[in-house]
Amino acid sequence: MDQPYQYRRRALVEPDWHRLPGWRDVTTEQWESAQWQRSHCVKNLRQLREVYGDLLDDDFYLDLERDQSQTATMSLLVPPQMLNTMVPDAVPDADLMRVDPVRRYMLPLASDRDPLWPSHPMASRDSLHEAEMWAVEGLTHRYPTKVLAELLSTCPQYCGHCTRMDLVGNSTATVDKHRFVLKPVDRIEAMIDYLGRTPGVRDVVVSGGDVANLPWPRLEAFVARLLDIDTIRDIRLASKALMGLPQHWLSDDVRAGMARLAAVANQRGVAIAIHTHVNSVQSVTPLVARAARAMLETGIRDVRNQGVLLRGVNTTAHHMLDLCFALQDEASILPYYFYMCDLIPGSEHWRLSLAEAQELQHAILGYLPGFATPRIVCDVPYVGKRWVHQCDDYDRTRGISSWTKNYRTSVEASDPDALLRRYPYYDPVSTLPPDGQAWWLEHGVLEDLPRAAWAGVR
Ligand code: SF4
Repeated sequence: MDQPYQYRRRALVEPDWHRLPGWRDVTTEQWESAQWQRSHCVKNLRQLREVYGDLLDDDFYLDLERDQSQTATMSLLVPPQMLNTMVPDAVPDADLMRVDPVRRYMLPLASDRDPLWPSHPMASRDSLHEAEMWAVEGLTHRYPTKVLAELLSTCPQYCGHCTRMDLVGNSTATVDKHRFVLKPVDRIEAMIDYLGRTPGVRDVVVSGGDVANLPWPRLEAFVARLLDIDTIRDIRLASKALMGLPQHWLSDDVRAGMARLAAVANQRGVAIAIHTHVNSVQSVTPLVARAARAMLETGIRDVRNQGVLLRGVNTTAHHMLDLCFALQDEASILPYYFYMCDLIPGSEHWRLSLAEAQELQHAILGYLPGFATPRIVCDVPYVGKRWVHQCDDYDRTRGISSWTKNYRTSVEASDPDALLRRYPYYDPVSTLPPDGQAWWLEHGVLEDLPRAAWAGVR
């Protein structure tokens, strides 16, 4: 029967890294070593040229350099594993790289950005106001029963669209990053102390940054202390590196350490899960599947994916379903959520309108098992994650949707109107009809607010 999407099982393939001049002599043993991967990450244009040589032309390198010097909110950092998934089936050239989904968000080019509206007028650093909701430094208490613990501000890879561009990674030419003030050891003590005296919190997302950048003994010690707090029932470890640097999660010390934590968690009835971040089907390779299964074999409860909807990367129903089936069928990773890209500076070319996200949610229903059908969610500032069909009101001309909430965040403890108020979310201006675009132009915000967003302070 003819269907809009035709399911077909596809075997995963590790792209051959020998097709790239800089890695012609790299052995399988080197490739599968976490240490080799970390020491050969691409951090600048010179290193990118060493990998690709003449395969890419000067225009491509200049375009990338222009983005880094004028617009980028994240510095360059791409592990070989991720770079190798760009143009996976061919010897890359500049044209193939320009349209590649992984390249589009890991190596953003100046020419990718929206020329008129690179930032939405209402975009801001820390667009989810996480730091405002810190109970103690790095511990965001935004929902009634769960918290986010930011243990560190680095990752093995830096994604161009990172929501935490305010804090994560090195400063760029346009963004002076905020820094934690407390020493790591004091920050962790403060977090554990807060969680010990706040029994209403049952769920801790251990994040950053990416926990793969924390030396394993420190991560294990932190999780072990969480396991000692008997009101904590869910612990989720956030690591994009399960995909970007699966070699880390396959290393012997990490596997042995995770097995120790899983044994204690299972004995106490606590669920430990890894939450990863895969946006494109070509990123799901045999090594990623091996890493996910290795983690499940340690005895943890689950490995789940939280992708981000990014235009030009994954925003057709076909691509999303291919990705979800690769995760679910071939890598034992549950397709759990897709987030709409947040309202940070420089993200307009990636963001979708709410209407587009609603259409995508409709288009992917019914193909995957219900438990593996990802919800597409909008993280509404001061509200939290809402399913895209939950908005109360939607002005499609100005691209403004309104949302309500059913709990207070920590900054609204004494606000009697918090649960009555409507909170706005904004579509990309370039997706609006002409009268909607004219409305935003008329209000004069194009001139001032994008700059304010870039320069904004907490
Ligand atoms: S891995 Fe996560 S925290 Fe790190 S840069 Fe990417 S999106 Fe941001």
